[in-house]
Amino acid sequence: MGIDRDRLQASVRAALACPDARWYRQMLAQDASGCPLSEDEADGVVQGAMAAAVSLAEKTRRAFPGVSAEALAAALQLEIVPMPDDAGLGNVPLIGQYQPGARQIRLHEQTLARIEDFIRAQGLEALTPASELRPCVLYHEIFHALEEATPGIYTRSAMLQRRWFGVWPRRRGLASASEIGAIHYSRIMSGIAYSPRLFECYLLLDGRAAPESLPGEFAGVGKEQNRAFD
Ligand SMILES: [Zn+2]
Repeated sequence: MGIDRDRLQASVRAALACPDARWYRQMLAQDASGCPLSEDEADGVVQGAMAAAVSLAEKTRRAFPGVSAEALAAALQLEIVPMPDDAGLGNVPLIGQYQPGARQIRLHEQTLARIEDFIRAQGLEALTPASELRPCVLYHEIFHALEEATPGIYTRSAMLQRRWFGVWPRRRGLASASEIGAIHYSRIMSGIAYSPRLFECYLLLDGRAAPESLPGEFAGVGKEQNRAFD
C-alpha cells in the first residue's frame, strides 16, 4: 500500500508552521518513560536547550563566518566518515553519530539516501529540499562536538537541576535536552525554514505508513523517531 502523496504533502505543509518549541515539547513527552517532567520543568528544559543552541550558533558564526557544514567540521578537526550499513538503534536506522574519542562524525549514507529518495518520490522537494538534509545532519553532530567542549552548557547540565528538586536524575530527560539543542542548532546553522524533525518523520514513514495511518499533523508521530540522530 502506497502513501497518499496529497495527504502527505498537506501534512508536511501543516508541519512547516509548527513552532519549534512544540516539536521539542513532543520529544520530551515521548521520553516520558524515563522522565515525568511537570509543565514548567518541560518548558524550562526546552527553553534552556534552545538558548544553548542559539548561543553556540552565534559563537560559531562569529568564529567561522560563512562556512559550509563540511568546512566547519574540518575547521573543528572533525573527520567525516561513513558508518557501517548495519549500524542502528534497534529497528531505527541511524542517520548520523558523533564519536567523541575519535573526533569523528559518522554518516549513514544508506539512510541519508533513503530520506532523500523519499523526499523526491513523494514530491516534497519544494517543501523540504533533499539537499538540505546532509548539512543539517552534519550541524547536528557538530553541535554534540561543541557541546562536549563547552563546560557548563545547559544541555549537559540539566541533571544537576533535577537534583536541586530533590529528584533522582533521569538520564533520558538529559538526553532529550542534548538532542533538542542539537536539532535547534542544526536548524539555525543550516538556515532551513522547518524543523529538522521532519526528516526523522520521513524516515519513520518510509516504507511503513499506510495512508490512513498518516498523522494529521507530524508533531504526533510515534516515539521511535526520537533517536534517529545520535
Ligand atoms: Zn544527537
